[in-house]
Amino acid sequence: MAGIMEIDSKYESVIEDSKRLAKSVEAFAMEADESSELYQPILEALRGSGLSALMVPSEYGGRFSMVDPLAVCLVREILMKTSSHLDSLFALQGIGSYAISVAGSESQKEEWLPLVSKAEALAALALTEPRAGSDLKGIETSVERKGAELILRGEKSFISNAGSASFYTTLAKEEDGYSLFLVPADSDGLETSPSPEIIAPHVLGELRFNDVVLPESARLGEPGTAFRNVLATLSVFRISVAGAALGVMTGAIEEATKHCAQREQFSRPLIKHGPVATLLADSWSDLESSRYLTYQTASLATEDPAKNLDKSSLAKLTATEAACRVVDRCVQTMGRWGLIRGSKIEKYYRQARPMRVYEGASEVLRLGIANGMVKEFVDGS
Ligand SMILES: Cc1cc2nc3c(=O)[nH]c(=O)nc-3n(C[C@H](O)[C@H](O)[C@H](O)COP(=O)(O)OP(=O)(O)OC[C@H]3O[C@@H](n4cnc5c(N)ncnc54)[C@H](O)[C@@H]3O)c2cc1C
Repeated sequence: MAGIMEIDSKYESVIEDSKRLAKSVEAFAMEADESSELYQPILEALRGSGLSALMVPSEYGGRFSMVDPLAVCLVREILMKTSSHLDSLFALQGIGSYAISVAGSESQKEEWLPLVSKAEALAALALTEPRAGSDLKGIETSVERKGAELILRGEKSFISNAGSASFYTTLAKEEDGYSLFLVPADSDGLETSPSPEIIAPHVLGELRFNDVVLPESARLGEPGTAFRNVLATLSVFRISVAGAALGVMTGAIEEATKHCAQREQFSRPLIKHGPVATLLADSWSDLESSRYLTYQTASLATEDPAKNLDKSSLAKLTATEAACRVVDRCVQTMGRWGLIRGSKIEKYYRQARPMRVYEGASEVLRLGIANGMVKEFVDGS
């Protein structure tokens, strides 16, 4: 890690394990990152690393007493620099299972969390639908009570890990409210199909719930508490997207700096030309300022995730917007060598882009941030 900031020694082993894991997949990372289906050697490597244990409380096989947002950020930064496929698999273990950790019954926790901690069960969070993205209150998936059973109907779209996950933490309307349900992947009536391929391939799929019969015990928490638990998930994991953005920026800057230090034009290395130096120095400035904000915010989120969701949104906005600027500048400094399909820099260029859309599109985050500004600067609360 090239950063200047001191990290608490309790994270040393997490950082070492992540570096070892990233190195172990380097040889096939390019191929894995072009795959829209689960790439088995990446999963095997994740399992072997033990890092999924960061995603559940220690009581159920986890590494820390609760999921630690700074630890997750540090890991994602390192994994994302090498492989987005690996980063995504790691992140989804937490994103898909966190509602179980905070709201699940004892038997749901005992059944799933130890498996998640070993990456033996793969997790997914199913919120988005064909007609509902940013506005999740517009979902149409619903449960209807029939005697002692609940019947789940509807569709989900662009769900990470769909088709490979072992269970789907699923948002559905229930009477006048919204609830989360734990839907095992082998439930009768649950169909999966691939989503359209995106510019940076990702394991993504569509779900169709054709009258899936669930017991009452499949609900996560009380009826009507879905958004509380979705917010709890975002409080811990939104900041980790900023961590992944740091990984993309670090990788792009490394590629561009190496290139510009050795390639000469007009009898001197590119990096000695003022405009090129400016592109690279501004990128470094974007990276390091994003890094400070991300680590600082992740530390605050570690203390109190819910209280710091607005700050996590700010850090996610800052780091993902910076990542897109940085990769664009880095591509520019490399001239035609920045445009080669299948090169690392071209991969980062594509991988940075979706980060400004998922886990809160930048514009939606800005609205929330602006509301927080009114509270802070106008209402004085
Ligand atoms: C790689 C990837 C992985 C994903 N994984 C998952 C997953 O695992 N689970 C899941 O449930 N979903 C997942 N999604 C879906 C993702 O959560 C949605 O794409 C996201 O919520 C945005 O919704 P949308 O794409 O429908 O865009 P829309 O909601 O249609 O918004 C389009 C654009 O309009 C603007 N906009 C929308 N609302 C506002 C507003 N109120 N104010 C200002 N501007 C606004 C924003 O610029 C936004 O980008 C994934 C998406 C991608 C790309």
